[in-house]
Amino acid sequence: MTHQHPATAARGLQRSEALARAELLEVTSYDVTLDLASSEETFDSTTRLDFVSRGGRTFLDLKPRAVRSIRLNGRPVDVDLLQRGRVPLETVEGPNQLVVEAVMAFRNDGEGLHRSIDPADGRHYVYGMSFMDAAPSIFACFDQPDLKAPYTFHVRAPEDWVVVGNAPGTNPEPGVWELETSKPLSTYFVTLVAGPYHLVRDEHDGIPLGLSCRQSIAAELEADADELLTLTRQCFDELHRLFGIRYPFGDYHQAFVPEFNAGAMENPGCVTFRDPLVFTSKVTRGQRIQRASTVAHEMAHQWFGNITTPLWWDDLWLNESFAEYMGNRVTADVTEYDDAWVQNAYARRQWGLLADQRPSTHPVAGNGEDDATAALQNFDGISYAKGSSILKQLNATMGDEVFLAGVRDHLQGHFYGNATMHDLLASWTRAGAVDLGAFADNWLVTAGPDRIVLDRGAGRLLRTPPTGHPADRAHTLRVATRSPGDAGWQVDELVVDAAETSYDAPAGAAVLLDPFEDTWAVTEPDAVTTALLPELVASTGDPLLRAGMWNSVRSAYHHAHVAPEAVLDLLEAWLPAEDQDAALQYTLGWVLAKVVPLAADPGTAAARVHTASLAAAQAAEPGSTLQLAAYQAAVSSCAATDLLEGWLMGRDLPAGVELDLALRWRVLVRLAVLGAVDRDDLDAHLEAEPTAVSRVEHTRAIASMPTAEAKAWAWERFTGEATAPNYELEAAGEGMWRAGQDELLAPYVARYFDELPGTAEVHSGWVLADVAEAFFPLTSLDDTTLERARALIARPDLDSSLRRRVVDTTDELEHRLAVRRTFAGQ
Ligand SMILES: [Zn+2]
Repeated sequence: MTHQHPATAARGLQRSEALARAELLEVTSYDVTLDLASSEETFDSTTRLDFVSRGGRTFLDLKPRAVRSIRLNGRPVDVDLLQRGRVPLETVEGPNQLVVEAVMAFRNDGEGLHRSIDPADGRHYVYGMSFMDAAPSIFACFDQPDLKAPYTFHVRAPEDWVVVGNAPGTNPEPGVWELETSKPLSTYFVTLVAGPYHLVRDEHDGIPLGLSCRQSIAAELEADADELLTLTRQCFDELHRLFGIRYPFGDYHQAFVPEFNAGAMENPGCVTFRDPLVFTSKVTRGQRIQRASTVAHEMAHQWFGNITTPLWWDDLWLNESFAEYMGNRVTADVTEYDDAWVQNAYARRQWGLLADQRPSTHPVAGNGEDDATAALQNFDGISYAKGSSILKQLNATMGDEVFLAGVRDHLQGHFYGNATMHDLLASWTRAGAVDLGAFADNWLVTAGPDRIVLDRGAGRLLRTPPTGHPADRAHTLRVATRSPGDAGWQVDELVVDAAETSYDAPAGAAVLLDPFEDTWAVTEPDAVTTALLPELVASTGDPLLRAGMWNSVRSAYHHAHVAPEAVLDLLEAWLPAEDQDAALQYTLGWVLAKVVPLAADPGTAAARVHTASLAAAQAAEPGSTLQLAAYQAAVSSCAATDLLEGWLMGRDLPAGVELDLALRWRVLVRLAVLGAVDRDDLDAHLEAEPTAVSRVEHTRAIASMPTAEAKAWAWERFTGEATAPNYELEAAGEGMWRAGQDELLAPYVARYFDELPGTAEVHSGWVLADVAEAFFPLTSLDDTTLERARALIARPDLDSSLRRRVVDTTDELEHRLAVRRTFAGQ
């Protein structure tokens, strides 16, 4: 997956329970009949589940609206025994057959069978998201990753719908869909995509390919179908070559579905993607790279995750780190996006490093998670970005041949089965790798990053292991040095394998440690380097080196070692020279969110960003994606309402900029922040083009307005007083907390900490934690907020996923407070 369950099940399946059930049972097959045509609120779900038992007590997972009947081996089971999603069962030794007839609810939180209405045309769309514990809200099952079985689906749906699932299907009569029996699947990747979807079909190397999306965005999907299918073909060829195992799941369908929480989900044969990835407005190349690497990531999962599945969620890195590494690698190696690693350096490195420095850090492997629901919170920068970085390092150490031979041995040894980290390490050892034990101890099972900094005066590099996680790690990394008169950077390799390593920096030279991400460590520029960077950056030709420079500066800023104004100095020097739109998009986004509000004078800081980014938009090639990225930041930093209003009318735009739907809403959201647009205007813009994108941005704009009414409107969504689909909920939270609206927002600081625990009654799964983060009062930069956050974290009754998110966001607040304290008045 590229990144949410009913509130009553605060405690998920425990590892010990899964182990006991897997000891007892082997599932033979599922036969599932769903009737999606009889109601818009609920659907009938009948499951016939054949399994073999050693005999004895276990339980079935079932999260229905109502149960009609449960029969085990022909005898009725008392439906009143259903409690908190479980039905106790007394099995017999040998074959057992369970038949469950239930009524399930369509959901609107992106899980289970999600049903939504397209605001553009009123059509209804359904898709299944079983991950990570939502399968029992679609069909009765033994919901754990290591009880795999083949599935046969029979679906009745409205006659104008198409139905796609994990296995190829036929449509013998209108409204009736019969899917073939699938390969053995874990419950968490069983899916169904059903509705009046627009379909594109093709084929590659014997594999039927498909794409689908809502009708209202069909033209946009068609426009990009060639790009998407070409990518898919290229990735299949390369993954077949690397893994030496053919894709075994039949068709490969990629469905772009509404209101999807994750980036995408790797369901075998039928991958689901969030449908903002069907671009309805102009996007940057960086966004196209992000989409391409998501396509490749989900394809890599067909092997790592779907053929061989982690035995338990503590090894989810086996899925995510591999898919992330292989996805980036394949995108960069065989698609048109050969600059994918540059985009990745901007998009992912800080995500991983920050997650690894939070109080909630955990090892990449064996994260120790015993609760399936809590494990969801480990789909983070550690399991993705750090894990991928470490696999890249491991690959460099053992060589590609041994690396891939071990991977093939692992997949072949556990085909359609489940495995653990130890199985993979054993495969690599068989393939010829040595010393994997020490590697695994240091990098995979010890949390936190080392910190490597230059002590220029003493002529040494200092390596500090993470607090509370002792490690003795050897880092092989490149160092880039450059003095003011030098034509370019000199790059040298060195090994840092002790607390102190002698290193004499050339006198007065800038020194960037690990700018190419050879290792996993927090590095920062020292004061001499920070002072030189604005002078050197414009003539730094390597985009990866510029990305490495920004990652070092961002780490230093996070730790209050670089002032907001120094970041802005660098930004102004760098912007005219940068030619990668991903670099602009991520860096300008970060500066606007985290640097400008902490500057001594935020108004002046925003004006500096605005001037620099507008100049970059005017200097860029008209109509280029680089211009788009610069112009987006110019809009979001603009304080001149007349200029914004002019842009909205099409006046004074930089030549080449066309104000499409996304840009129009960006201007409207900015006008809303400034209090320069009223509610009726926003409603009129929504009505003029009532698409899914418009609805989300309309919500963001209203929540951003500096009025008590607007904040109350957003707050009702947080507390569940007013209901809204997931994307709109998050946009309401993101819009609500705006710097400079402190007085209006003041009452909500205390209310957030008082009312957050109650949101577990109204929101669920992914949405619950994402909403907690989106509504966190991060603009309230004072010690009282910090004290309230700490008091909330200490509450024993707080839902675990809420606690995790509040812990991390509080850590962010502490760091922002430190920046403010350190540099106030400078
Ligand atoms: Zn994934």
